Amino acid sequence: MTKDKKAVVEAVEKHKDNLIQISDSIWALAETAFEESISSKLLADYAEKNGMTVTRGVADIPTAFVATFGSGKPVISVLGEFDALPGLSQNTVPNKDPRVDGAPGHGCGHNMFGAASLGAALAIKEQIEAGKIQGTVKFLGTPAEEKFFGKVWMVEAGLWDDVDVNVSWHPSAQIEADVQSGLSLIDFMIEFYGQAAHASSDPWNGRSAADALELYTTGINYYREHIKPTSRIHYHIQDGGQVVNVVPDYARLWVRVRDPKREVMLPTFERVKAMAEGAAIMANVEYKYSLISGIYETLVNREGGKIMQNNLELLGPITYTEEETAFGKAIQEATGKPQVGMDGEIHPLKETEALPGGGSTDVGDVSWNVPNINLGVTVAPKGTPWHSWAVVACGGMSIGHKGMVYASKAMGMTMFDLFDDPKLVEKVKDEYITRKGDVKYEAMIDGPPPIPGK
Ligand SMILES: [Zn+2]
Repeated sequence: MTKDKKAVVEAVEKHKDNLIQISDSIWALAETAFEESISSKLLADYAEKNGMTVTRGVADIPTAFVATFGSGKPVISVLGEFDALPGLSQNTVPNKDPRVDGAPGHGCGHNMFGAASLGAALAIKEQIEAGKIQGTVKFLGTPAEEKFFGKVWMVEAGLWDDVDVNVSWHPSAQIEADVQSGLSLIDFMIEFYGQAAHASSDPWNGRSAADALELYTTGINYYREHIKPTSRIHYHIQDGGQVVNVVPDYARLWVRVRDPKREVMLPTFERVKAMAEGAAIMANVEYKYSLISGIYETLVNREGGKIMQNNLELLGPITYTEEETAFGKAIQEATGKPQVGMDGEIHPLKETEALPGGGSTDVGDVSWNVPNINLGVTVAPKGTPWHSWAVVACGGMSIGHKGMVYASKAMGMTMFDLFDDPKLVEKVKDEYITRKGDVKYEAMIDGPPPIPGK
């Protein structure tokens, strides 16, 4: 490792205890989408205290912020998420044990996400300050990844317009320079409006919104047989009426359609959307469609992946204590997985799969507007169910802390490379331009961000 890279690693080490404290505080707060006021403040305050210029409440989102340092080109940004998931509250023990019954928890590790990225930004800030590199570092606090996809509004607000390359990571069960895409998706709400009546004495006066809802989901479930095997349709019934003796005059469901390719997802979405009209006709009720938001599949960048891979190899594997391995194995036992502990090894850079499985992320929208380099780092045992208590448990103790600090260093080193060598930035940009082709990015949103209580 060069002296300069060692300085980046040492800068992260210097902030390590504070980053862990921030990560643990966000873990305990477990604030959900667009309500991450204290979590966002903890990160923004620390950036400000350490000399970055902070703008809060960007893109009409109270919990979104930008912290910058330096001036001129290149502009390298790094993303920090910090929202939790409902219902996943958990203590730092290797068996299901909520801290507060029914409360949210960090089942996707976003408490570590924001803290690690901030550490990388500060490490770079200090290298700019020391005169080793020139340019601008930008840390973007990006709320509501789990529900509304806050980055889509941030992209619309032009927050990446001046950025040359964006760097991001995600907590994972393995260390990898991530060169896989994700699934594009669209989220929408269907509401049915009928006529209430007594369910027994005058049901003929009623028109049931719940009937329409049931007919609608039946239609969706028949349609499943005819969609591409790569596509997914999910729905969440949010309101199906209140009591058994009233014909419900209102019903609502939240629907999501996904596919690795937008051109497959969009026609499937159009069919699912149209079925609501059929259901409304059958039940003789009215319906309303509202778009929530949609996200793009991620545009991968292999040139960026190679830079990241090189830094992972320089950093080497994460090693675990006997206690940590025992903790991991206990989680694997509790979740019915082979008891192999954590995977802290560095694996070779993978091929990019044509059709990735897995989830979706609003990093996708960023990746169609600026080249994006992605990283995954181990914060949980191998095979552990994601979005579960198991991830929450690890994210609040040393297994998570180790992954978080490691991610901070790997991103800091990769950002340093980009500042240090303009040819690398060009290579990453060239690949981005080729992969993007003639696609014109258009955000799949309709109106302002749905801030609760606004
Ligand atoms: Zn996540």
